[in-house]
Amino acid sequence: MVKAIELENVDLSLGRGAARVHILRGVSLAVEQGEAVGLVGPSGSGKSTLLMVMAGLERQDAGVVRIDGQDLGPLDEDALARFRGRRVGIVFQSFHLLPTMTALENVAVPLELSGAPDAFERAEAELQQVGLGHRLAHYPAELSGGEQQRVALARALAPNPAILVADEPTGNLDETTGAQIVDLLFRMKRERGATLVLVTHDPGLARQCDRTIALRSGAIDAERSAALTAGRA
Ligand code: ADP
Ligand code: MG
Repeated sequence: MVKAIELENVDLSLGRGAARVHILRGVSLAVEQGEAVGLVGPSGSGKSTLLMVMAGLERQDAGVVRIDGQDLGPLDEDALARFRGRRVGIVFQSFHLLPTMTALENVAVPLELSGAPDAFERAEAELQQVGLGHRLAHYPAELSGGEQQRVALARALAPNPAILVADEPTGNLDETTGAQIVDLLFRMKRERGATLVLVTHDPGLARQCDRTIALRSGAIDAERSAALTAGRA
């Protein structure tokens, strides 16, 4: 079966001149379809950057990135954006909603831009699924953090992506609200058979994943990854 995500010897540096940082160093990994992977590691170890590479938002300098069997390397920017729009859902710690758009528009507009004919109907259905059917006309500033993250989750899931990546999705939420978002995230993932890669500092959350990958200084720490994966209940 084709892997959901496949990275071979991925290298990436970002920044210019003296500020240039070698962030990812020879990262190779494979994620099966439907798998949930927790990505952990110290601050600055490259977790967010690795997630952006997996989402096709950041291009590697060297190595191969294959998502759903598609090699992202040869795609030009337009093709890559289309691929992302259809196949990859992204959830950020700080929600990244557009402040001038309602909850409904935040979900519907990207869907419409990707060519969906019934974008507003689908967006409404997605918002109902995350329990926000009564908040369609609210602006982000009128929503709680947990509600904003639900909108972001609905937006990420609306195109029915094969891959869902989430960068510390509970990092800006209190414990109870965070736990609700996590339950929702895993339920939606299961219902749709999506693949999930989740960056988290929360060991409890990492344990809910099928497997843990530990990064250190931009490289996979195989020993720690195996120990964390073996240590789960
Ligand atoms: P993590 O998510 O694990 O905290 P990041 O992937 O955000 O780590 O960052 C890894 C390292 O790369 C950090 O040292 C960070 O400062 C650096 N970095 C991230 N993005 C850039 C960028 N655009 N330009 C230069 N350095 C960057
Ligand atoms: Mg990060």
